[in-house]
Amino acid sequence: MVEFLRVTEIFHSIQGESTWAGLPCTFVRLTGCPLRCTWCDTTYAFHGGERMTLDAIVARVREIGTPLVELTGGEPLVHRGAFDLAARLLDLGYTVLVETSGAVDVAPLDPRAHKIMDLKCPGSGEGERNLWSNLDHVGPGDEVKFVIADRADYEWAREVVRSRGLDERVRDGRLSTILFSPVWDQLDFQELAAWILEDRLPVRYQIQLHKVIWGANVPGV
Ligand code: SF4
Repeated sequence: MVEFLRVTEIFHSIQGESTWAGLPCTFVRLTGCPLRCTWCDTTYAFHGGERMTLDAIVARVREIGTPLVELTGGEPLVHRGAFDLAARLLDLGYTVLVETSGAVDVAPLDPRAHKIMDLKCPGSGEGERNLWSNLDHVGPGDEVKFVIADRADYEWAREVVRSRGLDERVRDGRLSTILFSPVWDQLDFQELAAWILEDRLPVRYQIQLHKVIWGANVPGV
């Protein structure tokens, strides 16, 4: 059991992504990420942070009081203690979401947690980092996300959805959903919508709701 984690921020906000979007949520943002996506909107979480005990983190989550908690980063799963924290919060009855880059092994994560797992498109500059074996460890409660910067990213994501059978997995309930999200300020929202509709892709289009409410790149919202 790891007793400490490095934490950038713990805050109360509206969940802005995934099928959980719109719900009040407590975010635990852990510090550090081994990736450097070109369009990353949380670079402030790469360094710094405060060393906190798991007890102190859980106490802060309890104080905020939402039933929904997300572990995010950075990349939360580079911390061994993140797996312990997820299990502790689940034991306490919280619904736990884990936002992860897709580059770190998710297999050891408590299966009660809901993974929101990126597959990095080429435009992120980190496409080589996708750990494809992670697709064996996402299930009915989990979501796979593509953040799309341009038409090349879209075509890559469409190919992955089809060739890896993600569309079939959603259809028969082995995967909760596939998220397609435009890079904010980079890809025209209507253009992505048109491509999805034209191809009849069984994906869920999402726009980062927290940015609609508070603006882009605002820490702690
Ligand atoms: S994985 Fe996430 S936190 Fe890390 S660089 Fe990419 S977008 Fe930023």
